[in-house]
Amino acid sequence: MRNWAGNIVFGATRIHRPRSVDEVCQVVAAADQVKVVGSGHSFNRVADTVGDLVVLDELPRRLEVDADRRTVTVTGGMRYTELARELQAYGLALPNLASLPHISVAGSCATGTHGSGNQLQGLASAVSALRLITSSGELVDLSRADDPDRFAGAVVGLGALGAVVGLTLAVEPAFEVAQWVYDDVPLDRIADGFDEVFGAAYSVSAFTNWAGDTASVWVKRRTDRDDAVHPGRGWLDGRLADAPRHPVPGMSPRHCTEQLGRPGPWHERLPHFRPDFTPSAGEELQSEILLPREAAPEAVAAMRALGPDIAPLLLTSEIRTVAADDLWLSPAYGRDCVAVHCTWRPLTDEVRQAVALIEAELLPLGGRPHWGKLFELRPEAAGALYERGEDFRRLMKSLDPRSAFRNAFVAAAFPER
Ligand SMILES: Cc1cc2nc3c(=O)[nH]c(=O)nc-3n(C[C@H](O)[C@H](O)[C@H](O)COP(=O)(O)OP(=O)(O)OC[C@H]3O[C@@H](n4cnc5c(N)ncnc54)[C@H](O)[C@@H]3O)c2cc1C
Repeated sequence: MRNWAGNIVFGATRIHRPRSVDEVCQVVAAADQVKVVGSGHSFNRVADTVGDLVVLDELPRRLEVDADRRTVTVTGGMRYTELARELQAYGLALPNLASLPHISVAGSCATGTHGSGNQLQGLASAVSALRLITSSGELVDLSRADDPDRFAGAVVGLGALGAVVGLTLAVEPAFEVAQWVYDDVPLDRIADGFDEVFGAAYSVSAFTNWAGDTASVWVKRRTDRDDAVHPGRGWLDGRLADAPRHPVPGMSPRHCTEQLGRPGPWHERLPHFRPDFTPSAGEELQSEILLPREAAPEAVAAMRALGPDIAPLLLTSEIRTVAADDLWLSPAYGRDCVAVHCTWRPLTDEVRQAVALIEAELLPLGGRPHWGKLFELRPEAAGALYERGEDFRRLMKSLDPRSAFRNAFVAAAFPER
């Protein structure tokens, strides 16, 4: 079994597809080493195990909306595509989504997955309660209301605390979004006017390959909040696109969410890719570093200086913003962030070198690598970037005293003391 990108072959000796929560309890309790894999979209070994790998896609599906409390409770293996479609049918929405909606809710939250938006936190911040099966086979409920401290440590949990079989998320009334793309916005304008660019709409992304001097800026405006017309034809010295675009220049936009300002439901505009297009495998690799937002101009300058070295390997690179949260292992823990993402050609060795070059520039600016993507930083040094790392170690010890969920990735990032 491989991950979505095909660059990781899982080392598991057995794969299980339990059909009930009881069965998950039995598999987990009986396993020496165990890990749950979500939709397998991570680019590293965060979801790997040398023991038993559990896939939750055959668990009876559960989706319960509590309209009074404005929450939805879902099964561990559910993907955002399905959740978003159902919520929309109830007239409800999540505040944000990632660029691709086909990723699982539990797996995305476990790695601190995010979209873009000055006011929008990572996807895990929508979670208000978790139901875990710990390595003893017991069910443990953790909620922000009843157990705020352990909860904040558990949501972005790298799959290291137990099998998440249920999540409760906060929802809001459904809303509409209109999306425009601006071509050829000078990178100077983005660096100098960072707040103006990223404050222009509910969700803003800028795509570039760092070889030239410009970026394409994708502006996603809420029709009920932002002024839902485009910011002006020549906004930021760019050009309003007159046809749909793909984040990778020259690729057909037919798999991308609708643009040209046509309003549509939140889940069909916030991701860049359409829910009805399901890429089962990817011809790409990804890396991403989240830095304190104030470092944006320096980060842009550093990436531009690397442009000639990295551009030949890049399919595209995306700048996004993420609001601070309080989840211990979230790369946005305690600080608003600018995120510098790279989508690479699938050339592992060359990409590793390029990622190391980027890290040498961006980590000293306060960068933290995305847990689900490629990074070259020593795992222990990555773990050390989190001030609540010691608390996370203690949480792992208390919920998983026999270290069954502690795979090599987690053990390297948070070694036992
Ligand atoms: C095309 C593409 C686009 C992407 N876009 C974005 C983006 O816009 N923003 C962003 O931040 N990231 C993005 N990512 C990265 C992606 O969101 C993360 O890798 C995310 O973790 C994927 O979710 P998954 O369900 O595939 O997780 P997996 O890779 O399957 O697992 C990730 C972690 O979650 C754990 N886990 C999964 N399910 C459970 C469970 N039920 N119980 C306990 N642990 C569990 C695993 O053990 C592992 O530790 C993208 C990836 C791809 C391939």
